Amino acid sequence: PRSGFCISNSVFYSKRKPIPLPQTDFLDVTTFISSRPHHGRTAFIDAATGRHLSFKDLWKAVDSVATCLHDMGIRKGHVILLLSPNSIFFPIVCLSVMSLGAVITTSNPLNTPREIAKQIANSKPSLAFTTPELVSKLTKTNSNLPLILIDDEITDASTKTKAKIVTTLSEMVKKEPSGSRVREQVNQDDTATILYSSGTTGESKGVVSSHKNLIAMVQTVVERFRLNEGDHKFVCTVPMFHIYGLAVFATGILAAGSTVIVLSKFDMGEMLSTIVKYRATYLPLVPPILVALINGADQLRAWYDLSSLKFVISGGAPLSKEVIEGFSEKYPGVTILQAYGLTESAGVGASMDTLEESRRYGTAGLLSPNTEAKIVDPESGKALLVNQTGELWLRAPSVMKGYFRNAEATSSTIDSEGWLRTGDLCYIDDDGFIFVVDRLKELIKYKGYQVPPAELEALLLTHPEISDAAVIPFPDKQAGQFPMAYVVRKAGSNLSEKAVMDFIAGLVAPYKRIRRVAFIAAIPRNPSGKILRKDLIKLATSKI
Ligand code: AMP
Repeated sequence: PRSGFCISNSVFYSKRKPIPLPQTDFLDVTTFISSRPHHGRTAFIDAATGRHLSFKDLWKAVDSVATCLHDMGIRKGHVILLLSPNSIFFPIVCLSVMSLGAVITTSNPLNTPREIAKQIANSKPSLAFTTPELVSKLTKTNSNLPLILIDDEITDASTKTKAKIVTTLSEMVKKEPSGSRVREQVNQDDTATILYSSGTTGESKGVVSSHKNLIAMVQTVVERFRLNEGDHKFVCTVPMFHIYGLAVFATGILAAGSTVIVLSKFDMGEMLSTIVKYRATYLPLVPPILVALINGADQLRAWYDLSSLKFVISGGAPLSKEVIEGFSEKYPGVTILQAYGLTESAGVGASMDTLEESRRYGTAGLLSPNTEAKIVDPESGKALLVNQTGELWLRAPSVMKGYFRNAEATSSTIDSEGWLRTGDLCYIDDDGFIFVVDRLKELIKYKGYQVPPAELEALLLTHPEISDAAVIPFPDKQAGQFPMAYVVRKAGSNLSEKAVMDFIAGLVAPYKRIRRVAFIAAIPRNPSGKILRKDLIKLATSKI
C-alpha cells in the first residue's frame, strides 16, 4: 500500500488520502477558488478599521479590477509587482491579476529601494500596485513603473506627479465588472506567481509557480482545515507577500470559506486583542512569535481572554521541542499544528492536521496529500530508508515550474524526474512523520524571513577595506538564527565590527542585517573555491 512506508524504489508516499485535482487544461486559480462554496460568510475583516468584506463583494471587486487591468492592456504573461503590507486588498490584487493569466510578483515591504530595483530588473513588471506609504520606495528605484495606489484617494498631488500613478484600487473596484470581457483562456500550466527565494544556494531567484501548482496547494489547504470542521476565524499576521501568507490567507482559506481577520503587520498587542474581539480560533505564526508568547505568557494571559483560540499553526522555520512544551504548558487549551514547506513547493510539504498528530512533538507532520518524498544521502546520492537522515526530496503537483530565466539553478534543483531538492536534512519515521534535523542549504532564516548569505557576501566584497567574507547562520533563541559575517580585512585596515554591520545595515532590509562579525585571516574554502560554511559554523558556535 502507498502509505508512509518505503517501497522498493525508496519512495515515501503520503499517508494522507490523495486529493483529486481538476483535469481540465483551461483553468485559472482564481476561477477555481471562486467556484467553491462560502456559505455567505465574511471573507476578510480589516483588524485596524473593522471593515468587513463579504465573499460576494470580494468576487465583485476581483472582477472589476480584472476588467480595468484588461482595459489597460494587461494580458496573459504580463508581470505585475505588488508591494504592500498585509491588507484586505492584497488578495483582491492577486486574484484579479491571476484571473487574467497575468503574473503576480510580491515584494517584502521592508525591502530597500535597491532590493526592490533588483526584483524589478529581474521580473520586468508592466505595472505595480503599492500603498501611499511605500510609493517613495518605488520612486527611488528609478524604474518609472506605472503605479496603482492601494488607497481610497490620492491625497498628495506632488506624490502623483513624482510617481506615475495611473489610478487607485478603489477607483477600479467601483467599475462595473464587464461580464462580456474577452479574456484569453488561461491554461493550468501558465505562470501565476513569481515569488523570490534563494533556494539551496546563491542569491534570490524568482520561483515560477503555475496555476496548477497553486490549485494543488489550495486543495491541500482546504483539505487540511476540513478536518477540524466548524465556523473558523483566522487571524492573519504572517506576511502575504511570502508563500506562507499567500497560501493560507490570500488563496487557501478563501477556498475553504472561512473568515480571515487581517493585521497589516505583526504586533503582539494588536494580534491578541484581535483574537479576543473576534473570538478567533486559528492563528498561523512563525516560531519566534511562539517564543515571545511563552516569554510573556503570565501577563498576556491575564490581559487577554484567549479562550476562543483552538489552534496555532507554526511554519516557516524549525520549532524546537522545548518551545512546543513551553507553549503547551502556558496555553493548555491551544494545540500547535506544525507545518513544513518551501516557496519552491508553494508551501506544501508536510503538516500536522489533528490533535492526535500534534502530540508528536518535534515532527513537522505527515507528508502532504499527493506528495512523494525521498531521503537522499547528500554524499553518495543514494536513496535512504525509514529513520535514516538525508536530504529531503519532494515530488508533488505543487512543485514549481522552475526558477525564472535561470535554467542552471532550475536543473540543479529539480531533476529530470521532477524531484525537488529541498536542501533540508530530514528523516521519516516508521509512521511516516517527517523530522527536520538541520538545514543543508546556505539559507539563513531570521524570524522566518529569508536571508541569502550569498547576497550579503557580495555586498561585503564591495567594501573597499574587505578582501574576503563569508556569512553564516548564528543560533538565536528569539529569531531562530541571524546572519554572522566572517571578514578578511585588507592589509593595513582597522575596520571595526560595528563599521561592517553599519555598512550592511545601510544597504539591506532590517531583517537581513548582520548582527555579529568576526575577523579572520582567511575564509576556509574547498579546492574549487566553495566556502566551507560548516567549518565556520562550528568555529562560531564553539565559542558560545
Ligand atoms: P521559504 O521558502 O521561505 O518558505 O523557506 C523554506 C525553508 O524554511 C525550508 O526549506 C526549511 O529550511 C525552513 N522551514 C520551513 N518550515 C519548517 C519547519 N516546519 N521546520 C523546519 N524548517 C522549516
